[in-house]
Amino acid sequence: MKNRVKLYILATPLLLMMGGCSIMRSDDPNAPLKIGVLIYRFDDTFMTEVRNSILAAADSHVIVEFADSRNSQSTQNHQMDKFVKEKVDALAINPVDRTAAAAMITKAKAANIPVVFFNREPVADAMKKWDKVYYVGAKAEQSGTMSGQLIVDYIKSHPEADKNKDDVLQYVMLKGEPGHQDAELRTKFAIKAVEDAGIKVEKLAEDTGMWERSKGKAKMSTFLGLYGDRIEAVFANNDDMALGAIDAMQEKGFITADRFIPVVGVNGTASAMKAMEDGALLGTVLNDAVNQGKATYAVAHSLASGQIPDQTNIGYEMADGLYVWIPYKKITKGNRSINLSNSIR
Ligand code: BGC
Repeated sequence: MKNRVKLYILATPLLLMMGGCSIMRSDDPNAPLKIGVLIYRFDDTFMTEVRNSILAAADSHVIVEFADSRNSQSTQNHQMDKFVKEKVDALAINPVDRTAAAAMITKAKAANIPVVFFNREPVADAMKKWDKVYYVGAKAEQSGTMSGQLIVDYIKSHPEADKNKDDVLQYVMLKGEPGHQDAELRTKFAIKAVEDAGIKVEKLAEDTGMWERSKGKAKMSTFLGLYGDRIEAVFANNDDMALGAIDAMQEKGFITADRFIPVVGVNGTASAMKAMEDGALLGTVLNDAVNQGKATYAVAHSLASGQIPDQTNIGYEMADGLYVWIPYKKITKGNRSINLSNSIR
């Protein structure tokens, strides 16, 4: 039954929303609980992992319906309207534009449907607009600090990494989507960690890369064309962009037996693990999609059941009664198995 419901939902999320075959809970008190999940973009590799984890956590008696907002806030607004019309019991929202969260909260409040946001953090003022609003995510600054430390550890144990011997780390940054807390804070805290370790830095270039491998590759190709061997480190704020940078470096002959530029990413995807094993990626920071998905479901389920989420009913610690923070972990080739041991990968 569990699998049947889930497969059906996975295969036909939009049909379910638009086809008028939805179950309206208020029409039938015995109808199963229903949670509407809005995801900014299904083809984002990290969000796919979070989505799979939500699905795996879902109880057999709960309907979990996903909608792909295809990176359009107006599409997401329409999808939310449909869920409100269907009178879902709770909403889990991964906003396209996190500044749109305030308006979504106003709408949810008017319909009295509690909300848990995840992965894209609404600003604190928006979170205060209603007492049935929660957030599940990870502290962006922590991931930045950790990726900076991965580079620091490498530089300190590899003096030859300072290729021009000027005691300054020349780096390039693939930032991710502007305005996303993970893009902004990882960028800032990665460099802060390097400076805090007493290493001087010089930014050669920074560009968005928009979380995508192909865009990361294109940006890195440009950087290599402009700066080539002057680049001493590559910071990529997610693994897809890090892998894109490596693609460009491999294509242009920058990764050979005697040529190496350290690249760090964030997320800990399977492809990043493989690149780390192969020695092309220096390290990454685990962004625990499994636990973020499980916690998002747990909060949504508790809200849908009319409870106030707390550590006892969701199984995760809460901060200020509103936030669930899933910790990041540094991953290198050397510590990979230890650091992944408590996540289901
Ligand atoms: C991840 C990115 C992902 C983004 C989506 C970030 O936490 O590191 O890979 O694209 O979330 O919002």
